[in-house]
Amino acid sequence: SMASPALLMRVVASAYSVAEKAATIVRNVMSAGDLGIVEKAGPNDLQTKADRLVQISICASLARKFPKVTIIGEEELPTEDVNEDLIEDGHCEEILKKPCPAQYAGIKEEELVIWVDPLDGTKEYTEGLLDHVTVLIGVAYGGKAIAGVINQPYYNYEAGANAVLGRTIWGVLGMGAFGFQLTEAPAGKHIVVTTRSHSSALVNECIAALNPDHVIRVGGAGNKIIQLIEGKASAYVFASPGCKKWDTCAPEAILHAVGGKITDIRGNSFQYNKEVKHMNSAGVLATLRNYDYYASRIPNTVKESLVP
Ligand code: AMP
Ligand code: MG
Ligand code: MG
Repeated sequence: SMASPALLMRVVASAYSVAEKAATIVRNVMSAGDLGIVEKAGPNDLQTKADRLVQISICASLARKFPKVTIIGEEELPTEDVNEDLIEDGHCEEILKKPCPAQYAGIKEEELVIWVDPLDGTKEYTEGLLDHVTVLIGVAYGGKAIAGVINQPYYNYEAGANAVLGRTIWGVLGMGAFGFQLTEAPAGKHIVVTTRSHSSALVNECIAALNPDHVIRVGGAGNKIIQLIEGKASAYVFASPGCKKWDTCAPEAILHAVGGKITDIRGNSFQYNKEVKHMNSAGVLATLRNYDYYASRIPNTVKESLVP
């Protein structure tokens, strides 16, 4: 008889379906029209009804299936007395059929940490820049991001009525990443993608020092990693605190699964064990290729301004 699938593959297969349910919630809240916007730290740190409902949906759904896994979500909300309508108990059969990389086959629930950003790019969501939005579910083991799901609820929303709306990208280290077409950025061009709504003098100083051919300013950490793996940008550069572990965990796993690299601006890798500080205080530097080109051009003055 077939051995039952490894825990990691069951978690990723469930996270895939949970992220699709999340995308439906994100679209439904927008079409209902009442976003219920709340300011958290300030006007550039927002939470909507979609952030709240999706947080509950993802965390409660995964906790029910994997009770011993540590789940850390961006929004602080209770997961008791959850409306059953928010629970997703399905999984992606295709993922479950794939063999688990040998080094992860023996992982136990207690050893996993799941980092959840229910809605990444909230500011852009409230401004109608809908394809900037992603739902991020990252899986960490031994402090490393090893698997991730990125759902883009409004992928194709400007492509016409016949286009399929939304997509789910997923990946596991040692296995690869799926749900998109891996594409190299234009050769010999330096295209930097960075924040749209959280800029600062230091963010701009750092980009200027790289002397890029072009700068793309878009919302969302998930969205910016998609720009890298689809060849729209050659480096994601963010010389500022503000990004958190739930912003980078799923994107990191997917980027690393296809041979890219993400670190803070000083070149330190991120840690994702449950005790870790949430804030990525020293910013983000990520590339699909040519990481060293960009890392070697970050000014020391910028590095010294950002303390991990
Ligand atoms: P951005 O590239 O501006 O969309 O930021 C990527 C992620 O980091 C999003 O989840 C943002 O909400 C978060 N983030 C970045 N900078 C800040 C900030 N200054 N305050 C709050 N959140 C931030
Ligand atoms: Mg976010
Ligand atoms: Mg968020």
